[in-house]
Amino acid sequence: VAVNHDVIIIGAGAAGLLCAATAAQRGRRVLVIDHAKQAGKKILISGGGRCNFTNLYTSPENYLSENPHFCKSALSRYTQWDFIDLVNRHGIAYHEKTLGQLFCDHSAKDIVSMLLTECRRAGAQVQLRTEITAVDYDANSYTVVTNQGVLRAQQLVVACGGLSMPKLGATPLGYQLAEQFGHRIVSVRAGLVPFTLHDTDKQRFTELSGLAVDVIASNQRNQFKEAMLFTHRGLSGPAMLQISSYWYPGETIQINLLPQESIFTSLLELRQQRPRMSLRSVLQEWLPKRLALTLCEQYQWPDKNLADCNNALFQTIADTLENWTIKPNGTEGYRTAEVTLGGVDTREVNSKTMASTLQPGLYFIGEVLDVTGWLGGYNFQWAWSSGWACGESL
Ligand code: FAD
Repeated sequence: VAVNHDVIIIGAGAAGLLCAATAAQRGRRVLVIDHAKQAGKKILISGGGRCNFTNLYTSPENYLSENPHFCKSALSRYTQWDFIDLVNRHGIAYHEKTLGQLFCDHSAKDIVSMLLTECRRAGAQVQLRTEITAVDYDANSYTVVTNQGVLRAQQLVVACGGLSMPKLGATPLGYQLAEQFGHRIVSVRAGLVPFTLHDTDKQRFTELSGLAVDVIASNQRNQFKEAMLFTHRGLSGPAMLQISSYWYPGETIQINLLPQESIFTSLLELRQQRPRMSLRSVLQEWLPKRLALTLCEQYQWPDKNLADCNNALFQTIADTLENWTIKPNGTEGYRTAEVTLGGVDTREVNSKTMASTLQPGLYFIGEVLDVTGWLGGYNFQWAWSSGWACGESL
């Protein structure tokens, strides 16, 4: 015998839980199901355990999508300020780390407890350890067959996220359900992910593992001024994660290793002021020492005093440091990616309600949609905004 609800939400993650509380506050009988043992696992590990839960400067420009206008409505109806209000009402302490990124002072657990409290107060049920074996639609309602019995509801919300970090329980179920009901999927790939390097570069930079530099990373599509980190596998750090979402295999990335310096002019001035200073010591002052030496070796810059260097050499050095070009071998993929780019094509979803325009009573929210934020709290804000917009319309 099927158990009846008004709404079944698949996925007790960021989007699903906020949607459940919102709909239940409006009197809907809501059941959230998830195969995990714990709700909001990604929230718990996010932001190094402190959850970067939103960004003060959230705006539609911080998102990638084949349909860039889609995110505007939900982001403007449930803003970062609305979520910050909720966090304040629950007395959760937080701080701005950098670039508008808000983190919990204590623990990401605060955010999960807040969401579960909101669900409980509103009467939304959250049922974990629930494996879904089939979803069917007939006679105006959805039947969800699970290892915990058969469930029924008139409305079904798909909130089961993307493919990143399969170890945390990510599965392709959301995309499969979308396809089952005739939706197109914008092809998916790993985003906010470290780069791996070709062997020559990997060997060259292996000594630099652990070293961080403030850079501007760019390609023809975008640029980011943040830190870059050398790792034993390749290049990571916020600047690399950000540009990875705009990168396609085979392409190069340009890195300005000294964005705060106008290199050529500074070298000319230094040659006047301190002619006996060696070129290497200048570079070691400007850049982390090991990096400066590696670059001198790679490009065979001479170990001369500034007085003995000509303008052409200065120009070459300036061009190289301002426009250091790397051709990644690939990325670390879904294993370590923070998000999945692509997803359910938003041209077949209503931007105000998150309802399918193809199938009655079906909704998509959060990361499963083709809306992907930058690093910095933008992905959670999309989960909150899309979850709320949907919860208001159920
Ligand atoms: P999720 O939160 O992933 O929730 C999906 C839920 O669906 C999960 O609970 C999962 O168990 C369940 N599910 C999946 N498949 C099935 C199935 N077959 N059956 C039943 N249930 C299923 N974003 C930020 O904004 N700030 C950060 O600090 C941040 N840090 C991150 C750190 C890491 C390591 C990672 C991986 C991501 C981070 N993100 C961050 C991204 C952010 O976590 C996601 O964008 C966000 O969680 C998406 O919300 P969602 O509700 O759509 O999906």
